[in-house]
Amino acid sequence: MIDLDIGFELSEAYQAVTVYSIQQWQVQWDTDITGRHYNQTESTVSTRVKYSNKCRHTEVTITRLRLSKCKLNYYMHKIHKHPTGLCSICNKDETVTHFLLECAASSTYRAVLLACSRLVLELLLFYAMYLRIAGYILLLYHL
Ligand SMILES: [Zn+2]
Repeated sequence: MIDLDIGFELSEAYQAVTVYSIQQWQVQWDTDITGRHYNQTESTVSTRVKYSNKCRHTEVTITRLRLSKCKLNYYMHKIHKHPTGLCSICNKDETVTHFLLECAASSTYRAVLLACSRLVLELLLFYAMYLRIAGYILLLYHL
């Protein structure tokens, strides 16, 4: 009997490369100093599509929120397109978190959504629903 090492099949090699790449990506994602906002909500890297919607505008809006690349003052200030980056009503950094969860300007929409049902409140805890509601709020504001 001859025992030959024939190495990986091509599909096994692809799988090994994929696993190794994702591991390296995760290490970088855990240690990098950029993208910390998104890291708080999406701490595990993956190649799956995070969100899709039939409406391209909604999908773009939600993706911008998720990545903190939207037209809120805090992010506009970072690219020198807003003088202070502060919310004009609350005088705090107008971040995604502030806009969705804290801002007096969106409190009416939050109250309506939260009053809809307990289920809505529970679903807010889940990332996808959080982003979907955020998208609706931004659509209402035309951001
Ligand atoms: Zn505010």
